[in-house]
Amino acid sequence: MRIVIAGGGLAAQRCCAALRRLGHDGPITLVGDEPLLPYDRPPLSKDWLAGKVDEAALLLRPAGWYAEHDIEVRLRARAARLYAIARRLRLAGGEELRYDRLLIATGARARTLPGTERFENVGVLRSAADATVLRSTLRPGTRLVIVGAGFVGLEAAATARALGVDVTVIDAAATPLQAVVGPQLGAWFAAMHRDEGVDLRCSSGVDGFDAAGDVVRAVGLRDGTRIECDAVLVGIGVVPATEWLAGSPLEGSGVEVGDDGRSAIEDVFAAGDAARGAHWEAASRQGAAAAHSMLGLQAPAAGPASFWSDQYATRIQLLGDPRGATQLQIDGDPQSRDFTALYVRDGLVVAGLLAGRPRALPALRAQLGHPQRERNPA
Ligand SMILES: Cc1cc2nc3c(=O)[nH]c(=O)nc-3n(C[C@H](O)[C@H](O)[C@H](O)COP(=O)(O)OP(=O)(O)OC[C@H]3O[C@@H](n4cnc5c(N)ncnc54)[C@H](O)[C@@H]3O)c2cc1C
Repeated sequence: MRIVIAGGGLAAQRCCAALRRLGHDGPITLVGDEPLLPYDRPPLSKDWLAGKVDEAALLLRPAGWYAEHDIEVRLRARAARLYAIARRLRLAGGEELRYDRLLIATGARARTLPGTERFENVGVLRSAADATVLRSTLRPGTRLVIVGAGFVGLEAAATARALGVDVTVIDAAATPLQAVVGPQLGAWFAAMHRDEGVDLRCSSGVDGFDAAGDVVRAVGLRDGTRIECDAVLVGIGVVPATEWLAGSPLEGSGVEVGDDGRSAIEDVFAAGDAARGAHWEAASRQGAAAAHSMLGLQAPAAGPASFWSDQYATRIQLLGDPRGATQLQIDGDPQSRDFTALYVRDGLVVAGLLAGRPRALPALRAQLGHPQRERNPA
């Protein structure tokens, strides 16, 4: 059985590893459009951006691993079209790869602000190449404007502050991450970043850019303010990198799959951000789940959604889905970045956020779906 994997990131690597672990001994070809072997993205806004780790530390597996596991890796190769009936994947150069099972793991790409592509000091943060460009601008005293207070924007802000950069963060919502963690914890994120010296402008929007040639000198806000800058990072979310599926039955923004990774087309599977996974843990789990399904095995059950973020040396972990929660219970000390927040709906804990308490994760996991405990039991 010939397995082809379109995309060369975390979900792709995890699928390859699981296939071999589960005993698949047929050919596996991985097609990735970047020059690097599958690598880890979380360090791109953290230690890699800070210059603390080298490229080798970024790789999910060393180069020799792919040869040892008999996995053919095609780098700088782009999946361009899916011919589902013929079971062929067409690459950008015109070559076609026949498959018996296909995994779509092309991830996501960062949203951009229309019209900013021509500016040489405006960028996004999705790839190692993006991070290398951004890192070259982060020197003490340089001025960085970050558009978007999502996780990637906030992590980049924290890393840049640690490097002595003047950072302004602009977001349309009233608090950072409001749609994810709600207004109360959003306000906690805002306070943390302001305490660290970030000029955080919420309920604000970009109106335009003052440029000299192809270089942006200032960002204009809707209230008329101008923020002078040396570089701009746009961190306004991602879109699934699935445009190459146009013309196939899977055309659309992201591929819909079940927990087993199966798409609407038999023998085609999807995992990770291309399947709207959105986070590291989901991409890792879905890559392995797709491998099980490809081999006709039962995929392990999916756990609750989980995500982590590192900001100013504080580990922040989110477990479950806070949306729809009607109550928030906080234990600990938000001021010193050491607390547990439980999101409650109908008396049940539906999600939790840990700040500075990585070891509390198993206990939080055990609480999900259960009634919230009394804070001070008699
Ligand atoms: C800066 C940053 C920090 C992050 N930090 C965290 C964190 O702290 N915690 C967390 O949970 N998550 C974090 N994430 C999210 C996490 O890294 C992603 O969810 C995860 O990488 C998704 O894996 P993936 O394999 O689906 O996609 P990707 O890792 O994006 O891999 C997809 C690969 O396929 C390639 N590709 C795209 N189109 C094609 C094509 N047509 N043909 C061939 N190849 C193609 C892409 O270039 C890429 O190499 C972070 C992401 C970023 C960018």
